[in-house]
Amino acid sequence: MQTTNVDVLVIGAGPAGSIAASIINKAGYKVRIVEKEKFPRFVIGESLLPRVMDHLEEAGLLEALKSWFPRKIWS
Ligand SMILES: Cc1cc2nc3c(=O)[nH]c(=O)nc-3n(C[C@H](O)[C@H](O)[C@H](O)COP(=O)(O)OP(=O)(O)OC[C@H]3O[C@@H](n4cnc5c(N)ncnc54)[C@H](O)[C@@H]3O)c2cc1C
Repeated sequence: MQTTNVDVLVIGAGPAGSIAASIINKAGYKVRIVEKEKFPRFVIGESLLPRVMDHLEEAGLLEALKSWFPRKIWS
């Protein structure tokens, strides 16, 4: 069995897990995310709450999201 040493293990690569893992990693910790689904997974959703943008920016994910998420939220 292969083992990996990490500082933090995040279970679930949804928005919460992904943002948390990115912020923790930016703080200098070694992070591993485990996810039970195969991505891309089917998710219903068509908009984001404005408050989420602050967290996405802190995590360094905002620019990547802007490249594919529907334009209407950026106007
Ligand atoms: C019908 C619907 C429409 C929605 N529309 C919107 C919208 O338009 N805009 C919006 O902002 N929000 C929307 N939401 C809400 C949004 O989907 C949630 O707020 C968001 O997905 C929550 O993120 P999360 O990371 O907490 O959980 P999740 O997105 O549920 O992520 C949790 C992840 O953990 C994984 N997981 C669970 N158990 C394990 C395990 N034991 N081991 C490994 N992995 C595991 C799951 O597979 C999943 O990928 C909608 C929700 C629903 C149901």
